Amino acid sequence: MKLSDLRLFRQYAYIDGKWTHGDAGREQAVTNPATGEVLGHVPLLEAEQIRGAVGAADRAFVHWRGLRVDERCDRLLAWYNLLQAHREDLATLMTLEQGKPLPDARGEVEYGASFVRWFAEESKRTFGQTIPSHIPNSTLGTLKEPVGVAALITPWNFPLAMITRKAGAALAAGCPVVVKPAGETPFTALALAELAERAGIPAGVFNVVLGDAPTVSEVLCKDTRVMALSFTGSTPVGRLLLEQSASTVKRVSLELGGNAPFIVGPDVDPKEAALAAVAAKFQTAGQDCLAANRILVHEDIHDAFVAHFAERMKALTVGNGLDSEVDLGPLIHERAVEKATAIVDDALSRGATLVHGDQSQAPGRNFFMPTLLTGVTAEMQVWREENFSPVAGITRYRSDDEVIEMANDTEYGLSAYLYTYDVRRIWKIMRALKNGMVAVNTVKMTGPPIPFGGVKQSGLGREGGTAGIEEFLETKYYCIGGL
Ligand code: NAD
Repeated sequence: MKLSDLRLFRQYAYIDGKWTHGDAGREQAVTNPATGEVLGHVPLLEAEQIRGAVGAADRAFVHWRGLRVDERCDRLLAWYNLLQAHREDLATLMTLEQGKPLPDARGEVEYGASFVRWFAEESKRTFGQTIPSHIPNSTLGTLKEPVGVAALITPWNFPLAMITRKAGAALAAGCPVVVKPAGETPFTALALAELAERAGIPAGVFNVVLGDAPTVSEVLCKDTRVMALSFTGSTPVGRLLLEQSASTVKRVSLELGGNAPFIVGPDVDPKEAALAAVAAKFQTAGQDCLAANRILVHEDIHDAFVAHFAERMKALTVGNGLDSEVDLGPLIHERAVEKATAIVDDALSRGATLVHGDQSQAPGRNFFMPTLLTGVTAEMQVWREENFSPVAGITRYRSDDEVIEMANDTEYGLSAYLYTYDVRRIWKIMRALKNGMVAVNTVKMTGPPIPFGGVKQSGLGREGGTAGIEEFLETKYYCIGGL
């Protein structure tokens, strides 16, 4: 492992400030998706050990919530500074276990760390209210209090940022956390724990558990001491966790799948829009919940747009994320390649046209070459499903009303993109879209100050912004009478 600080490469779980192996000695190998090489092993914990981590977090709660707010803020800022100082090692770990190109991994460290800084500051602003009283001789108001232990279950596509976006908010609110990272990418999570410890975050406040995903998640969802569940991942697993959390009536936040429409109006420069669409589609090899999944182009500029899109995507380089000049790394595993292949086959069998994408050029087993389909229709999987691969599908439309209907024709409602210079069209379409986030004439929309999240079956709640910390706070109302 080529890291400058080898203590960042941990092959244990982290519970109550201790590096821990599995009680039954069960382990899981973690592989590099680009090469198939085994990077290391992590323990698979038993259910009792997961409950032990919750117990540790529960015991740490009194101390952590009781710290002066500036002390909590300082420790989070120390964590932020350590993330920045170890950017290169964290990025290397991420590229090794996730596959994304190194520059993207460095960008994720920056992005992920920025949430820790944002929420460190936000911890100072969890104000309650004074309420003008309707009861004689009384004072009314609210306090904001941390909900308690939070379970954070995260995916493999952004192994660092999906943890810090949640943990930054939870820790700032005063809640200890039990993190369950994806089995594919545990090492980044464990490096975060190592740096949290160095930052002075006390034992029991930041725990990382590993194990069989269904078992670990069920234990966390059903434990009455876990007061909040924050999950990022697929919609089917999100539904399951929501059901499992019902028995203990937890606070649940879900950041689930997306099926983003990318709408291109008739009035835009087709080249500008095509370059933006390529950026929005192929980031993280298409394994991004914000990826442009359905590209809807007005008939007036459709052909020019397709030509520019194809030209730009032909220039994309696919390879090992550690090599320089690589734009797309591998998919996370072979199942993802099989799914992408099935999606392309389904589209072709239903009449789509393959404009670009020769899989014989793929540099390895887990790689999928950027692929462009035109003539995509609503019956095709590439339209209906979040394809989570570098398969782009383009559909031609004729009017604003038609494209609004097309864009909303999905169970998902995370993000949407709109390219048009017409102010009336911007407002009309933006307001009609059933999405939690809409980016207009840009593809860069995320960051700490914004409320990230979806509607419909893309989730519940928001991460980031002033809303993000609220997911981990209770509002306590008080009424003091007899005054
Ligand atoms: P996933 O749902 O398979 O896994 C997410 C987490 O749940 C992992 O920790 C995994 O180990 C665990 N898990 C998997 N199966 C489980 C089960 N049966 N029971 C309990 N836990 C289980 O998702 P993924 O493949 O890791 O990530 C991709 C998905 O995440 C995509 O749908 C993507 O859109 C979504 N995502 C959403 C956002 C967002 O902010 N909305 C961000 C990133 C990714």
